[in-house]
Amino acid sequence: GHVRTFTGYRVQHDNSRGPFKGGLRFHPEVDIDEVRALASLMTWKTAVVGVPYGGAKGGIAVDPTQLSSHELERLTRKFVAGIHDLIGDHVDIPAPDVNTNAQVMAWIMDEYSKFHGFHPGVVTGKPVDLFGSAGRDEATGRGVVIAIEEFLRTQGHEVPESRCVVQGFGNVGSHAARILHEKGARVCGIGDHTASFYDAAGLNVPSALAWVREKRVLQGWSGGPSIPNGELLLSPCDVLVPAALGGVLTKDNAEALQCRIVAEGANGPTTPEADEILQRRGITVLPDIFANAGGVTVSYFEWVQNIQQFAWDETRVRVELERIMRKAFRDLTQTAATHRTDLRTAAFIVAIERVARAAQQRGV
Ligand code: NAD
Repeated sequence: GHVRTFTGYRVQHDNSRGPFKGGLRFHPEVDIDEVRALASLMTWKTAVVGVPYGGAKGGIAVDPTQLSSHELERLTRKFVAGIHDLIGDHVDIPAPDVNTNAQVMAWIMDEYSKFHGFHPGVVTGKPVDLFGSAGRDEATGRGVVIAIEEFLRTQGHEVPESRCVVQGFGNVGSHAARILHEKGARVCGIGDHTASFYDAAGLNVPSALAWVREKRVLQGWSGGPSIPNGELLLSPCDVLVPAALGGVLTKDNAEALQCRIVAEGANGPTTPEADEILQRRGITVLPDIFANAGGVTVSYFEWVQNIQQFAWDETRVRVELERIMRKAFRDLTQTAATHRTDLRTAAFIVAIERVARAAQQRGV
């Protein structure tokens, strides 16, 4: 019965290589600077994996846990009513991000159709029953694991030998932890904003997943030894997967990390100061614009399926995702070798060259 006003954003960074593309985030800390930064990351990410999109991002400054499902639906629909002329299946295509899911994407599709008719490709990450793609929900997490596998292979190691810690147990983190566990890795640490757990012998990931499916958060799970949230990132492991929010690896904790590899599931989890420290310490960072690009890659498959009105099965999605992630990794390692640089710099070299080439060829 009350009226409240929320501020929403959509930033379109670059469309030289194709329609703008990027997620929509519901979080109290969303502001114009964050959305701008994330929009530019999308431009580089789509270029790194070579999917034909540009970069965009959106968000609403809201704590969705304080809203009922009906309120969340009304908020989403109002936002779409405000921006429907700026998005479209060949213009700008939103997708899920922090605190938005397949249901939110379904509301976006439906609201957009009121103005423009049937265009399921206007948004990706939809429910599989409503023009979504098989394998989209796990795609970012699976892509993170493929990135880890590829890098370990270059070091003569395999996933089954590795000890992993995953921060964030939402869309990206929970699937990354599950797939690592399924592939035989020892997932020693997991955590979300409510609780963290660490056991050097490995945690029972399926039990944690079952708990979160029911309770939504890890708090209250008794399947492993709990630790203070601040200790999770500093716990001993081979592979650390930050898969929650940005800016969690900083100059204040980078010296204390006890991992060999950071696989960036989240967008922007490492500050530039921390990046320098990790490089000096010989800790390899698999950069976000490559490591978490599995989500936008399968979003691209979803869009292709929507346009063709032809659904792929999950096996095809996985095979194509692996092909694209492995090719991107080869491009990064070759570029890193040519320019004698780290993988993040290599990823930006690959991406900026591709965007610049497209802009030049268009004659801009
Ligand atoms: P989500 O909302 O599904 O999950 C976020 C998780 O982070 C939750 O488990 C939450 O409890 C946890 N978290 C929040 N604050 C925390 C804190 N202070 N400490 C520990 N845990 C905390 O979001 P998501 O879609 O999994 O996105 C996670 C990250 O991955 C974001 O940076 C997002 O931009 C990035 N990302 C997501 C996708 C995607 O397809 N969903 C694709 C690429 C990148």
